[in-house]
Amino acid sequence: MKIVHLWLKFQVLIIQLGDKKFRPYLSAEEIAWAVSRVSEALNEKYNGKQPIVLGVLNGAFMFCSDLVKTLTCGPEIHFVKVSSYEGTASSGNLSRLIGISAELKDRHVILVEDIVDTGLTVDVLRKELAAMGPASVEVATLLFKPDAFRGSQKPDYTGLEIPNDFVVGYGLDYNNLGRELPELYVIND
Ligand code: 5GP
Repeated sequence: MKIVHLWLKFQVLIIQLGDKKFRPYLSAEEIAWAVSRVSEALNEKYNGKQPIVLGVLNGAFMFCSDLVKTLTCGPEIHFVKVSSYEGTASSGNLSRLIGISAELKDRHVILVEDIVDTGLTVDVLRKELAAMGPASVEVATLLFKPDAFRGSQKPDYTGLEIPNDFVVGYGLDYNNLGRELPELYVIND
């Protein structure tokens, strides 16, 4: 009887997005803990520095929104965009950073990412931002996949390190689905 009950519960928790199934991975509470880890570290580092926060759309919209609510260092908040990521594997084809509305010269810049996978996106963005003459550039990410990483510099602030599996929810999508979910789900092969 107990086994049947668990099996039923498992079935209910699986979600379908397009042609793929996903199972629960991190609860809203676990995500909130990861967000607070990042915000505590940023508040300590940027106290009195009024950094420019650049949230990377679309994936980081939810993380960035929760993160800035707990920042006490007087951030200016902007959003930027790079080319989209389709399917469940990094395409490696990246367009340039677009939509910067802030003057970055001599300012401390914090790039806010949803997830650092290969690290190639962040490498490109760091270079582009550095060319704009900021006082500093650091990267804060909610999730980091160390096993997939092949970039030149790891994120400066990470909420949680995760295995090299495709996740959705909390702003992250699968072909534009699943961004609205308050929890994170992992692909169910
Ligand atoms: P990277 O250049 O580090 O390989 O990839 C960065 C971007 O790929 C992220 O900003 C995100 O949009 C996308 N990405 C990487 N891994 C995942 C994942 O597990 N799930 C989703 N939904 N997007 C991912």
